[in-house]
Amino acid sequence: MPKVKNWQINREMEYPYEENRPKRQIGYVFDINKCIACQTCTVACKTTWTSGKGQEVMFWNNVETKPYGGYPIQWDIEVLQRLDGQSWDDEKQTYEGKTVFEAAPQGERVLGWLPKEEDYAYPNLGEDECAGIVEKGQYFTGIHPVWMFYLARICNHCTYPACLAACPRKAIYKRQEDGIVLIDQARCRGYRECVRACPYKKTFFNLVTRVSEKCIGCYPLIEKGEQPRCVQTCIGKIRLQGFLSKPEEARRDNPIDLIVHFKKVALPLFPQFGLEPNVYYIPPVHVPRDFLEQLFGPGVESAIETYRNVHEDKELLGAFMLFGASPKIIHSFRVKGETAIGYDEKGDEVVRVPFSEPLYIRPYFDRKHDTYRHNIS
Ligand code: SF4
Ligand code: SF4
Repeated sequence: MPKVKNWQINREMEYPYEENRPKRQIGYVFDINKCIACQTCTVACKTTWTSGKGQEVMFWNNVETKPYGGYPIQWDIEVLQRLDGQSWDDEKQTYEGKTVFEAAPQGERVLGWLPKEEDYAYPNLGEDECAGIVEKGQYFTGIHPVWMFYLARICNHCTYPACLAACPRKAIYKRQEDGIVLIDQARCRGYRECVRACPYKKTFFNLVTRVSEKCIGCYPLIEKGEQPRCVQTCIGKIRLQGFLSKPEEARRDNPIDLIVHFKKVALPLFPQFGLEPNVYYIPPVHVPRDFLEQLFGPGVESAIETYRNVHEDKELLGAFMLFGASPKIIHSFRVKGETAIGYDEKGDEVVRVPFSEPLYIRPYFDRKHDTYRHNIS
């Protein structure tokens, strides 16, 4: 197998194809600390793309409660149990275990597993369950001793997609113009090798059309310079989509690059799988570190430290202000005084966000209308 460079695990690894990075790579940052599991993203995606026959239990975007939730059921535990010995050299931040490509059984390209049809039928199992018992009479005294958090998940449009690697029909391709991973519906014969291979379980088999389907990154919107539906509709403003540069070409004025490459405050989900996923998560600050390190690798502690001190870092705070601020893709930004300004690809201003919302207090007596009023907000 060819050797390719995977910067997330800080080493070369085996992959069935030569390294062939797209001209531009779609990238996302999700701030877990802000997600309220309202499922608006899930519904926005579902009503846009998966309301047809055979798509009833298909969620290209889902939000699951950790530690007990998972869609399809126990997807993460199934992979983690198969992928033994996931150790990191903490000092060098190098992954020392095997990726899903390196651990593939003889004659196969990926270490995978195929969920049963009913595994997709209970996406709300484990929802809102916390990791422990809340004792009778317990009350809030700071950080809760029991914890849970919401993990929003979409296809990662991986740099080294396992779905693409496993497809015997070569029906899966990664677009050069934006790095979005798509399934050619006309070439697919429904062998489900992609469903078996994707460790995140983000390709789905349609039982009616008998071919596989997956998140298309809302490419019609991307082509118009707009962010995907799940990003635009997010109530908690936890999401930012843009384009992520290679580490050696990262630009400080690209908010996604700043957050991922310079500040290292957002981390990939299960980097040890070896796919170089392109959705990055700001880890939840209240969760035990060993759990988070299994999910996001060895950078968790310093990411949380940086996140907690964001008010001392105007540049990073400026990038955070852009989350949910515009439907347009923000290619670059700058901070002027106490305002973050975002620009599109051509360099035209698309959004301006003040660090603090202006506060207006109306006078108790309105002279113009000769009336008294109450400020009730
Ligand atoms: S819309 Fe945003 S806040 Fe609501 S569940 Fe989705 S990611 Fe979380
Ligand atoms: S997350 Fe899964 S479906 Fe998406 S590109 Fe990666 S391997 Fe393919």
